[in-house]
Amino acid sequence: MHLLLVEDERRLATAVRRVLEEEGHVVDWVDDGADALAQAQTEEYDLVLLDVMLPSLDGYEVARRLRAKSNTVPILMLTARDGVSDRVQGLDSGADDYLVKPFALAELLARVRALTRRAKMLPGDSSVLKVSDLELDLKTREAIRGGKRIELTAKEFALLEVMMRHPGQVMTRSQLLDRIWSYDVLTESNIVDIYIHYLRNKIDRDFDEKLIRTVRGVGYALRSV
Ligand code: CA
Repeated sequence: MHLLLVEDERRLATAVRRVLEEEGHVVDWVDDGADALAQAQTEEYDLVLLDVMLPSLDGYEVARRLRAKSNTVPILMLTARDGVSDRVQGLDSGADDYLVKPFALAELLARVRALTRRAKMLPGDSSVLKVSDLELDLKTREAIRGGKRIELTAKEFALLEVMMRHPGQVMTRSQLLDRIWSYDVLTESNIVDIYIHYLRNKIDRDFDEKLIRTVRGVGYALRSV
């Protein structure tokens, strides 16, 4: 896996980098938020490990700007803060998971494994995401469920792709909004709900197993039973 480590504490960065390289990962390291943003947009990464407190741009801002540019790279936020609002802010800014400092390197490796596995696609076909009997072909831009082809619009496709890359994970409305309708564009606040409704009609309506779940007051998750 090709990983980007964004951390300005040199000793921690060195330790994290070493342990990741021992696991067989290729690790690029930057120590500044603006550099991180530039680097993540230049290279294809399987995961970004992103510290919150950084020179120039903080980690929240880096994540927000990546998501605003429709970059869906998994992000693991490394934070020294442990308040609920910090965690929500991290997830809302577009992070997929977070780890509170100080953390054990074993726990870091476990999170990295979980996030890279989540993002990984079907073996043998590098362009198909699968949840239960639903498949999303990233090359042909088609969804297939129960052997039936389903036509999706660009926004429906983008929404389904984000949810299928994070199966079982609850995505908040603002996370979905930020990733698909860039956060700086003024959009109807219920646009996510409208598109979830469209998607349900297409991928769930004709099937017994409903994959899109509403998590009341929070957002949506895509999962099989
Ligand atoms: Ca820092």
